[in-house]
Amino acid sequence: MHLKELEYELNLLKDHSLYRRLRVINSPQSSIITIDGKEYISLCSNNYLGLANHRALRNASIAATEALGCSASASRLMSGNMKLHEQLEECTASFKQTEDALVFNTGYMANIGTIQSLTTEGDAIFSDELNHASIIDGCRMSRAKVFVYKHRDTDHLRSLLSESKGYKRRVIITESIFSMDGDIAPLPEIINTALEFNAILIVDDAHASGVLGKNGRGSSEHFGITPDDNLLHIQMGTYSKALGSFGAYIAGPRILKEYLINKARAFIYTTALPPSVLAASMAAIKLVQQDENLLIRLWDNTRLFRERLKGLGFNTMDSETPIIPILIGSAEDTIKFSERLFQEGIFATAVRPPTVPEGACRIRTTITAGHTIEDIEYCIGVFKKVGKELHII
Ligand SMILES: *Cc1c(COP(=O)(O)O)cnc(C)c1O
Repeated sequence: MHLKELEYELNLLKDHSLYRRLRVINSPQSSIITIDGKEYISLCSNNYLGLANHRALRNASIAATEALGCSASASRLMSGNMKLHEQLEECTASFKQTEDALVFNTGYMANIGTIQSLTTEGDAIFSDELNHASIIDGCRMSRAKVFVYKHRDTDHLRSLLSESKGYKRRVIITESIFSMDGDIAPLPEIINTALEFNAILIVDDAHASGVLGKNGRGSSEHFGITPDDNLLHIQMGTYSKALGSFGAYIAGPRILKEYLINKARAFIYTTALPPSVLAASMAAIKLVQQDENLLIRLWDNTRLFRERLKGLGFNTMDSETPIIPILIGSAEDTIKFSERLFQEGIFATAVRPPTVPEGACRIRTTITAGHTIEDIEYCIGVFKKVGKELHII
């Protein structure tokens, strides 16, 4: 019976502390959440600006539903392309300061759709070793040859590029803020490398939209990157993390948008996002542009939490952003740590392989603009206690 085989595989995961289970949240997403009737400080959402339950987003979403209903009812190329899709794209392009933008249903789909449509057999992709699963899956689907370069290592990237001869198209892909490490890719050097080898560049700003740059526009603003006519610089970003809504976009030149509309299967063969979601995303972009305090609070909280953790002796790796990993090592210890935090009223999940490399298990914490100083000090107290108890510090 096949169910026995599935059960056997699940038991193997359990034996190796790699089994995963779902927890049920029965409150809105914010810095404090409710699980099984008890309140926890959430330290693992991507709700960086605390917008997921913001009144402006809720109101926009309700108004759009009242006016336009619950569904787009078809894919964009059939009859699902509503005025709101076009408005959100305009709003996104203006936020990202690009010529245009195209909305995808999720970041996962934006990555696989873009990579798969731009590359095929005979092409080469150069991908950072810590890139997100959606990038890895896009590379697999593309049938291009994939070269994985060492994390943030532009020397290694350059040597792989110089050794790779005879490929038609070459594409470099990196995250800007890495989702499990919280460090930042050396984009100016990667851009120079892309220019030198005439490669296309795809930058995944999933965690950087609404987080990096003075106005939260993302990695380009952070590094002061301006468009270069000799470089096809494609920026992917999400509405689902800092922007508190759902969905994703590709921002770049108008021709790229036209190309993706015609070629990206993850864009073509799926029902368009509903009005409620589009309106919430648009409200979030407006809010980020109006209220600079959101970003100030996010970064103040981030600095405070990281400095306090480091002061206690925790290894926060090379984190420079609101994603602050606490390196533990083995899956077993990491789970113990996470369970102890949970008992103390803190929700922070254990991240294990295949999400991170073997032996590099960690508690991945994320700080948001919604956390108060008291929340942070409480967490620091608990981390100190549990860290000592488990001999991590
Ligand atoms: C979350 C994430 C995605 C996927 O975005 P979704 O909208 O959640 O599908 C892609 N890339 C990175 C780096 C991410 O962290």
